[in-house]
Amino acid sequence: MTPGTTGQEESKEESQEQDVRWYPDADDAARAVTVERVTNAFTEAYGHAPAGVWAAPGRVNVIGEHVDYNGGLCLPFALPHRTYVALSPRDDDQARIGSAQVPDADNGQGGPRWEGALGRVAPGTVDGWAAYVVGVPWALREAGHTVAGLDAVVDGLVPLGAGLSSSAALECAVAVALDEVAGLGLAGSDEGRARLAGACVRAENDIAGAPTGGMDQAASLRSREGAALLIDCRDFSVRHVPFDLAAAGLELLVVDTRAHHALTDGQYGSRREACERAAALLGVRWLAEIAPADLDGSLQRLRGAVDDPEEADEIARRVRHVVTEIDRVRQTVELIDAGALAGVGPLLDASHASLRDDYEVSAVELDVACEAAVGAGALGARMTGGGFGGSAIALVRREDTERVAEQVAAAFAAKGLAAPAFLRAVPSAPAGRV
Ligand code: ADP
Ligand code: MG
Repeated sequence: MTPGTTGQEESKEESQEQDVRWYPDADDAARAVTVERVTNAFTEAYGHAPAGVWAAPGRVNVIGEHVDYNGGLCLPFALPHRTYVALSPRDDDQARIGSAQVPDADNGQGGPRWEGALGRVAPGTVDGWAAYVVGVPWALREAGHTVAGLDAVVDGLVPLGAGLSSSAALECAVAVALDEVAGLGLAGSDEGRARLAGACVRAENDIAGAPTGGMDQAASLRSREGAALLIDCRDFSVRHVPFDLAAAGLELLVVDTRAHHALTDGQYGSRREACERAAALLGVRWLAEIAPADLDGSLQRLRGAVDDPEEADEIARRVRHVVTEIDRVRQTVELIDAGALAGVGPLLDASHASLRDDYEVSAVELDVACEAAVGAGALGARMTGGGFGGSAIALVRREDTERVAEQVAAAFAAKGLAAPAFLRAVPSAPAGRV
């Protein structure tokens, strides 16, 4: 999906304002158009109407980054932007799938159509986007469920590779579709949805070969409209935290930096390894077990246990991020529960600084976005998602949103960076049948 531009035509000449590129709204009309398009594409491809259309949302994470694999807390919510899957089960083991988001040209995704036997799907056998789809029936079968072959067409409103979790949206849309056509009955309860999320995580880790800690799939399957999802990643228990931006006169502005520095180049893995090593050295299962009050003592012990001083410093900074970030999630939820949503701004800023300086997963585009947003009056801003590009979020007063977006766009232009694209995030419904 490509963002459009909305002009401030009258004042542009004078102030040299940037065009601000907004993603099209994922409102009811846009969603209805997408459902119709995916239904028609299915019918054209396979000669009959689909058994149904299912959809799952992308997400933003309000706070709690790189803590899911440390047993920590995070606070994502589902976007109104959803991925749609028109699907019918088959009598045999074949899968035929197509996506409107994959261009015809060979771009390393393997082209827009894929066909093969599900029984042949195994780690390392499927390249490109198809792995996110056929990984799901594979994982459901691994979990002991009976799932038949399928025909499917994918279309959607979640920007790909923007850190808004189009990958989980795709997996989760397929998961709720298969749940229904195979009569698994999992999507009817939160416990069952947690199991579907687990299958989606396996699909992404084992078949798509992309590391993911489970936050994205939980957000897509287990969120509630109007609420953020507080996830305790030790056991993936959840609490719905009402998140009423409008009542507080606020908006959450998403800045897609359109920089896609690959996360699979080992950076994510090396952060995870550092955390696992630190946990082993400190004798805990998860870094989440370290209380903020014990942080200094723990860092001292780590420094004593690692010979190379540079290495010791690096591992200490990684741990400091994780422990302080989990504490920031707690503080954020306390503020929200107390009706003080506007008060979380400084926690977002602190989260960004910690990810930038201690965890070192930011990127120049993300730093520019956050700095410019706060400079333009945002209450707080941070990168969201894994980092190294992708999106940032800024908490803004409703009347400031356009101006903040303009100034972020202007800051990108001034630094010679490609134009970012914007959308407004509101907590929306989880995956389900359309
Ligand atoms: P993010 O999840 O932040 O969008 P990822 O790199 O994790 O970024 O996932 C993006 C990948 O997921 C795409 O490159 C593609 O392989 C796959 N994908 C997501 N949505 C779709 C879609 N609608 N059609 C085809 N592939 C998709
Ligand atoms: Mg992803």
